[in-house]
Amino acid sequence: PLALLNDPTLLKTDALVNGQWVAGSSRFDVHDPATGLKLADVANLGPADAEAAIAAANAAWPAWRSKTGKERHAILLKWFQLLMAHQEDLGRIMTAEQGKPFAEAKGEVAYGASFVEWFAEEAKRVNGETLPQFDNNRRLLVMKQPIGVCAAITPWNFPLAMITRKVAPALAAGCPVVIKPAELTPLTALAAAELAVRAGIPAGVLNLLTADSTNSIAVGKVFCASDIVRHISFTGSTEVGRILMAQSAPTVKKMSLELGGNAPFIVFDDADLDSAVEGAMASKYRNAGQTCVCANRLYVQDGVYDAFVEKFAAKVKALKVGNGFTEGVNQGPLIEPAAVEKVQRHLADALAKGGRVVAGGQPMAGQFVEPTVVADATADMLCAREETFGPFAPVFRFKTEQEAIDAANNTEFGLASYFYSRDVGRIFRVSEALEYGMVGINAGIIATEHVPFGGVKQSGLGREGSHHGMDDYVELKYLCLGDI
Ligand code: ADP
Repeated sequence: PLALLNDPTLLKTDALVNGQWVAGSSRFDVHDPATGLKLADVANLGPADAEAAIAAANAAWPAWRSKTGKERHAILLKWFQLLMAHQEDLGRIMTAEQGKPFAEAKGEVAYGASFVEWFAEEAKRVNGETLPQFDNNRRLLVMKQPIGVCAAITPWNFPLAMITRKVAPALAAGCPVVIKPAELTPLTALAAAELAVRAGIPAGVLNLLTADSTNSIAVGKVFCASDIVRHISFTGSTEVGRILMAQSAPTVKKMSLELGGNAPFIVFDDADLDSAVEGAMASKYRNAGQTCVCANRLYVQDGVYDAFVEKFAAKVKALKVGNGFTEGVNQGPLIEPAAVEKVQRHLADALAKGGRVVAGGQPMAGQFVEPTVVADATADMLCAREETFGPFAPVFRFKTEQEAIDAANNTEFGLASYFYSRDVGRIFRVSEALEYGMVGINAGIIATEHVPFGGVKQSGLGREGSHHGMDDYVELKYLCLGDI
């Protein structure tokens, strides 16, 4: 698939440190999850390279922070334009290494680029404050300053957007960045870095360290232990988020964490059922269920349960599984064999505990999984507690509003939640009661660049996107000016 790139020079396999492409002392392979074939081998950088990248970022910081917001805006806007101009190629690279259908991959390129555009604009609006004085001889001011060198560690499920959502606000605020992309999807990240270079982002301001899984752990340790790195932004599993937080305690580092979810999707008796089915399809089966905001548990009220399950199962049976480059395919392969095993484990557990398959459920070859729906799901099932991260939907039955709220909140996670109702009182009651950072009401897809994305409880810290997305990359400084 990579032979078809319009611009073959976007296919970078060396890492970017201080404006130089570095081959590394070893390499690691990147595979196509649809075919299992090797796509490329990529520089495998380690702790010494991480130290070098951090030093380069620190050296590049004074010049970058000294630019005006408008100057940084112009460079970021150029990067946005280049990302969009190469949407097709970036999408192709993404489908090849990540597996999502080509149309979805191009959609992610637009979504990923939109963060660069948004924060390019925000670069001009890092406003301070003046406060009322407490005596007339003084004036009180608050200024915002870039926090310093930022590190970003990103996952494979959104190989571009999870990078731009962190890097764009950091750069806009005047911070240099060191990025460690997921080892399963480094090629999209490298292409984006190549476009950042073409956009004129100066050497050292954006560094990209590719590393295999072993070196990723070692590089993560260097980031956490560094006195120079002032902020770490991580998207990935709660388990790794906890490790990074613990490792960052000695240097009291600021952190943005976007961790696992266990999204409830509640359908009340008064819902518009077709709209709820539509929303459930979009929320559950996007990226073959591999997003942290995918519906993980569907709760449907007694009165509409059977009708919902029937309509939903019919739609799920119509999904087309296959190689993301094949026309009409809307379910690609899962990212790795372990992801397939997890779905199988959740399915087997659900069946052993009385679940009833109403769509899918049959094994497939390779890393493909048949989209599956299991009715009569119960709270003791694994899928009620753990994020499946695959195309498997358990449907639970409930009777009262309170029962649904209690079940939805019965998890240590709190990222996205969804519910369908046409009753305005219920909409407010349930929205307020759900312990989640985000609530989709009669909507299954809610993310966009100008809203605050993030979770509560053990789903993480901080918000990405929106004007709040700049907050983690600036420090407030209070100035008390006397002798007026
Ligand atoms: P997922 O479950 O989505 O694969 P992970 O949390 O395992 O999520 O991985 C997300 C990112 O975190 C990847 O870039 C991966 O290389 C990195 N990573 C995994 N373990 C560690 C670790 N111990 N320290 C630093 N980074 C890590």
